Amino acid sequence: MADDQQTVNVDGVTLDLVVVRKRVKNINARLNGNTLSVSAPRRVSKRELSEVIVQLARRLLRRSRAEVVNADGAAEEIAHKVAARFDRPPKVSEVRFVTNQTARWGSYNTQTGVVRLNAALKLMPPWVLEAIVAHELAHSFHADHSAEFWELARSVCPRTDRARAFLEGVSWLASSWNNLPPVERGQLIGSRESDETGAPERSRRATGSQECFGFGSEIR
Ligand SMILES: [Zn+2]
Repeated sequence: MADDQQTVNVDGVTLDLVVVRKRVKNINARLNGNTLSVSAPRRVSKRELSEVIVQLARRLLRRSRAEVVNADGAAEEIAHKVAARFDRPPKVSEVRFVTNQTARWGSYNTQTGVVRLNAALKLMPPWVLEAIVAHELAHSFHADHSAEFWELARSVCPRTDRARAFLEGVSWLASSWNNLPPVERGQLIGSRESDETGAPERSRRATGSQECFGFGSEIR
């Protein structure tokens, strides 16, 4: 018997929620498209249930997102390409983008040879992803971050240090975003003021000042 039907919002995604109270031991959830179906024991309180639902929804959303992100085989493809630059083939058994790795950009398991890549890397410039792949593959020869490790990583990927700086910037922005004052946040996303005639501020400025480090400039 369905005793509740509403929506649940997780990390900006709204899901239709169907909760059924049943004679079950645990709370179970299934995600089908945008509908989260939950079965729960009758004894569980509404409040407890809603907390668990958010956790289950997040886990299922991340899992289904991981499938989408990995569907095109891009992770294996880039790993294959980068592996060919090493003098000896690195030990790699599996390369996958993951959606549950929030504090790291990548990892390499020296026991299993499994490489995990933060799925957000797939949205960044290809050379950044390439540098992280080179970094993780270099760990198959050096399990630490010794001078020898960095030498190898840089020899395989000369943009290693540039990619680290790029990712430091990304991490900084991601962790500061919610605390930025609205004006500075607007500056970062490029909201532009208009003068009375409606002409964008940029064209007024164009003759007077040299634009340094414009946001649109390509990093190569
Ligand atoms: Zn490392």
